[in-house]
Order: sequence, then structure tokens, then C-alpha cells
Amino acid sequence: MDVNNYILPEGEIPIKETLSLWKGKHHYFRDFDSAVVELAQDIKCKDCGNPTGNKYYLLCEACRNKKSAEKYFQLEYREWDGETPLWLYDTDIYFFSEEEVVDYAYEVDTEVADLKLIIAKPLETPYFDIEEFLYEKLEIEPEYMESVISDSEIEEINDSINETILNSIGKTLNVWAPGKYRTSFINNKE
Ligand SMILES: [Zn+2]
Repeated sequence: MDVNNYILPEGEIPIKETLSLWKGKHHYFRDFDSAVVELAQDIKCKDCGNPTGNKYYLLCEACRNKKSAEKYFQLEYREWDGETPLWLYDTDIYFFSEEEVVDYAYEVDTEVADLKLIIAKPLETPYFDIEEFLYEKLEIEPEYMESVISDSEIEEINDSINETILNSIGKTLNVWAPGKYRTSFINNKE
């Protein structure tokens, strides 16, 4: 590009302007606030104003724990049967015996009574549905289902397969998920 080939309006030439930018950590910004956000290393807790310890947390650890504890204690209390696995609230930890709970408390140097335990629940065995299978795996749309399989065949297949599954696996799988009742085997019901 040769600028000599360009014709400017009569009496006009480009004017040199100085633009102010705000420098954040790595980038330049047109506004101060965006630069502050990029440069920041921490943010103030939404609840108490203390540093959250991380730019991406809205609450500090103490407030997060408090919130989590509040939610936990709002859950209904149920006695533990001593057998059903337990879930440690807000974690991915499950316990399959009282002993495991005690060992864990010892490991993390806390009291068993202070662990927020939830009675886990087993995942239910999924129900097999041949129509769902045909639709999902073979892309047979519901309106064409009739041409592929009759209602009585559907019923017969579903009954037979589900009975087989129930007989061999049972109503629930040996896979656990968080339940909705808090519990303890130490007296901390309140
Ligand atoms: Zn806080």
C-alpha cells in the first residue's frame, strides 16, 4: 500500500491522538475497573469482607463452611441403621462402616461428632424400555414405532427383560449417592 496514491479531503490530514489505556496484569484496558479485575489477586468475601483466598471464590473459607453447615443442619435428622453407607456432606467421600468414619476423623484430625454425615442412598436399578432403546439407539421415531413393534411385543419384551434384571441385580445397584437425611452415631442431633 502506497499512501501517496490516496487523495485526502481538501486541507485535511490525519491527526495524531494519544489514547490512554489502563494496564492490568497482562493486557491493556480502556477502563480502570477491568484493569483492576485483571490485576487483582484476591477478592473480598461477599459476606464478611475478608479475602476469599482466591479470585474466583465469592465467599471466604469460613463463610463457605458456615453456609455449608447451615444447609447441612437444615436437613432432617434420621437415626443411622449402622449399615447403610454414609456420605460426607459436600465431598465425594463415602464411608462403608463406622470404623471407616472413625479412621477418617483421626486422619483429618477432627472429632467424629463434627463430621457432617448423610445417609447415602443406593441408586435404583434402571428400568429397561424397548421403545426408548429403539429411539435412542436406532433412531426410530415414536410415530414409526408401531410399524416396527406392536404394543403387545413392547409389553412382553419389557416385562421379560426387567424381570431378568430384577432377578439378577435386584431393585437397587450397589452404587451409592447422597441421600437427604443427616445423621450421626454420636449424639449431635442439634
Ligand atoms: Zn467471609
